[in-house]
Amino acid sequence: MTDIERDVVVIGAGASGLTAANELKKAGLSVAVLEARDRVGGRLWTETIDGAMLELGGQWVSPDQDALIETIDDLGLETYSRYREGKSVYIGRDGERREFEGEIFPVAPETEKVMVDLIEKLDALVAEIDPDRPWDHPDARALDAISFESWLARETDDEEARENIALFIAGAMLTKPPHAFSTLQALLMAASAGSFSHLVDADFILDKRVVGGLQRVPILLAERLGDDVFLGQPVRTVQWGDSGVTVIADGMTVRARRVILAVPPVLLTRISYEPPLPRLQHQMHQHLSMGFVIKVHAVYETPFWRDKGLSGTAFSPYELSHEAYDNSNHEDPHGTLVGFVSDRHADDVFRLSAEERKARILESLSHYYGDEATNPIVYYESDWGSEEWTRGAYAASFDLGGLSRWGGDLRVPVGPLYLSCSDVAGKGYQHVDGAIRVGREVAAQILAE
Ligand code: FAD
Repeated sequence: MTDIERDVVVIGAGASGLTAANELKKAGLSVAVLEARDRVGGRLWTETIDGAMLELGGQWVSPDQDALIETIDDLGLETYSRYREGKSVYIGRDGERREFEGEIFPVAPETEKVMVDLIEKLDALVAEIDPDRPWDHPDARALDAISFESWLARETDDEEARENIALFIAGAMLTKPPHAFSTLQALLMAASAGSFSHLVDADFILDKRVVGGLQRVPILLAERLGDDVFLGQPVRTVQWGDSGVTVIADGMTVRARRVILAVPPVLLTRISYEPPLPRLQHQMHQHLSMGFVIKVHAVYETPFWRDKGLSGTAFSPYELSHEAYDNSNHEDPHGTLVGFVSDRHADDVFRLSAEERKARILESLSHYYGDEATNPIVYYESDWGSEEWTRGAYAASFDLGGLSRWGGDLRVPVGPLYLSCSDVAGKGYQHVDGAIRVGREVAAQILAE
């Protein structure tokens, strides 16, 4: 059993923990990063599967994500744009497939008007929300007491408009059904990306990718830390008190002045605390849960949809894969589609055999792109729900009423214990940008003490 001493010990080598560790090390503090897995990056993971390079976790960078963009630049990484020429596809409530350009789905004119009005209303509400303090909004409690589904139902009886607007936040972002999170939580999601309109604009939100994959960010951050990163070290116990902490992992013990818990909130309860955490933390951590989405990768000999004048961008709240995109790699002659199957749909297909699930998902993609979509040369499903050290995707959100009740306490340190992850971010919430922001903030807090 290795026994070491550091100023700060970081639990978790995701983007957040590695950012915090780098900031602290730059300022002259000694650090150790303990990672449960045998790799760094957490929810960022690039793998070669059957010869195809796939980004199994996070991958896209949007122009508002300046903390991530600064990090990408600092690490000397290159980015490239997602393919976006041609028409998008929408499948409506009537089951009809329609091609379109721009952002607003090709729905009946009266539904389009309702959608435009709802987007405007949501933009106005989002403009009143500080993503770092959504609980400060004068109506925070009321907005947190009503599910997004009920709020939309109060606004309009146009079901297709409601289902489309819900899609941008529910299936596409929080990856929970819209009855399972509050309107305040939905507004935070939009505010964290700058506006609701940004979420509607796929060209904005899914703008760029990193050459070599976004996992290059944590890999290079870890390289800067060298021997201070310890892999295969799941932390089991944190002993804490006024004099500091002792962190016990499977193969080592670290004594330090401070500990940064850089893990998703659902995994905080996997660690034993001696003494136990205070009742407030015991309570609030139970009210944050992971969403769930399957990220589906289908690689073809060529990007055949481009020959049909399609960009690859496709949406439908009525399809198993509610959204899909051209995800071809930089300078790769093969064509890759990425589709997403979220919440209850994901549960349902995981009850099927692997063959049946694949057939159902590819059939859904074929509704957007044609029969060629059913014959990929490589097929892979990223299943983060089965990952012991993640347990869902993309990230965590509060149940109804939780954000206004506990949001303000979430990032407050408990003695020498600090929390850092994308799930507790304001700007960049649920994204790598948020992970980096919180990592920087926590490091600054520790340095200021
Ligand atoms: P994590 O990456 O989860 O890091 C936590 C680390 O802690 C992990 O390495 C874990 O193994 C480790 N750990 C946990 N418990 C312990 C323990 N007890 N002891 C030691 N180590 C432990 N974001 C974007 O910006 N753009 C996208 O396109 C995007 N798409 C996504 C697609 C998918 C499928 C997923 C899953 C996520 C996506 N995200 C995206 C979200 C983004 O990947 C995450 O928000 C971000 O990577 C989280 O970083 P983090 O450091 O906060 O947490």
